[in-house]
Amino acid sequence: MDVLAVVDTPSIKKYVFETPHLVDIEGASALLDRLNRIELPKLLAETDVQTVYANGGSGQFIFRDSTIAEAEEMLRRAEGLYSEATNGGAALAWAAVPYEGSYNAVVQAAFAKLRAKRDLSAPLSAESFLPLVKLCEACHSRPVSQLYRIPESIWLCSICATKRRTAHAIRHGHDDTRFGLWYQFEDFLGYKVSRPQKLPDIADRIALIYADGNAMGRRIRQITTPEDYRTFSEAVDKAVREACYTALEDLVTGNERSAEISASILLLGGDDLVVVVPADKGLQIAYKIGRTYEELTHEYLGDFLKRNGMGTKLTLSFGVAISRHSHPFEYLIDAAQQLLASAKVRGTNINPDDPPSCIDFHLAQTTSHVDIECARSHYGHLGTEGHYKPTRRPYTLEDLEILTRVAAHLKNENYPTSQLNALYESLFSTPAQAEMIAREIWARNKDKARKALRTAMEMANCFSPLPWSPEGDTILSELVEFYDLLPERPLRGDNSA
Ligand SMILES: [Zn+2]
Repeated sequence: MDVLAVVDTPSIKKYVFETPHLVDIEGASALLDRLNRIELPKLLAETDVQTVYANGGSGQFIFRDSTIAEAEEMLRRAEGLYSEATNGGAALAWAAVPYEGSYNAVVQAAFAKLRAKRDLSAPLSAESFLPLVKLCEACHSRPVSQLYRIPESIWLCSICATKRRTAHAIRHGHDDTRFGLWYQFEDFLGYKVSRPQKLPDIADRIALIYADGNAMGRRIRQITTPEDYRTFSEAVDKAVREACYTALEDLVTGNERSAEISASILLLGGDDLVVVVPADKGLQIAYKIGRTYEELTHEYLGDFLKRNGMGTKLTLSFGVAISRHSHPFEYLIDAAQQLLASAKVRGTNINPDDPPSCIDFHLAQTTSHVDIECARSHYGHLGTEGHYKPTRRPYTLEDLEILTRVAAHLKNENYPTSQLNALYESLFSTPAQAEMIAREIWARNKDKARKALRTAMEMANCFSPLPWSPEGDTILSELVEFYDLLPERPLRGDNSA
């Protein structure tokens, strides 16, 4: 009998993002990448097993001529491998089912079993039983186990120490195998690049970009053979990586002998991506990743998708959270996740079967926890029937192109920012008052400015009446809040920006 197994690392994000230190995140990410892509397939290869795919923290395997008990024995060893390598920080979840009947049904049964197992295993938090112990200075949640001395002394728990040791081994080339996201980026570039040690090395204000694939679950459920599953999964993983590396290459400075980048890749693989870039590059990098991913999935999978009735390309959703580098990191990650979720809703509303790439973004002004829905409600009223929305977010990539064109036009024409700010203030009143105030400001503008504003707002379809579009939204809040963070040259669909 054959046995089909699915594996997953459900705690991957908690494990990678539990400390705000780039070096720990890099170590955690690299450890998981190596376990997932190299160690796990290697261990399972001891038996007659076919790897359908293994990337992005999950995988699928077919054990040939095996019993469930034999497959489970191997999977338990794989689980031990993860636990040992991460010191118990990240767990491998798995489920095995007999490969009987259609491939599609067997995969669904395996995932159902995996979900059921996961729901049963709620982790215990050990530290709450341990009063009066010194807590790890990185994660602030587990008891310390050692004094880590490089580059300066810090008390760490065993899980954080393992991450940091891995990151240092990679950075100093002490590891015998080349693994991790940075090696792959350097292979892509063809030269070495030095990267930031800490978030403040990136910029004073940073943008955290969180992206993942649209409608992936639904597409995967339509796949009927292991070969197709492998083709699909490998192409998606390759396209996400290449799209990320292509966009980040724009941020590399210096020459091939001493190249530097002010960005960090925190998580990458499967259909997931988390990177940090300087605040004024956030939107353009997200845009370029989105467009490149569309092009690459069209190139790698266009025929496959068409044959399976899945359109001609795949798309991503993006959440971009912008703040000072000192903003609590967990809040920043959380804000980006909320924005990602809201971008997904927009895409699904536009086309549930084939959602376009959408992006939502937010600038955190304070250092407190960000609630996107609440932050949006701070603008003015939604009008009597909720018809007005004093923002256009979440954006499609086409909307974002328009926003950058509008900003570039106003900058070119030297439209006074004081007037833009006054227009923006109008959004904090009722929709009718906003219209009255905006018209007054526009009417008082000098000829050149009046013309510039009209042209700009007409580009965004927000002049009927100013500042509203016929749909009752406006780009005014994005235009003002992100004025300095938008690219100097407008974004263009052909990737030439
Ligand atoms: Zn720790």
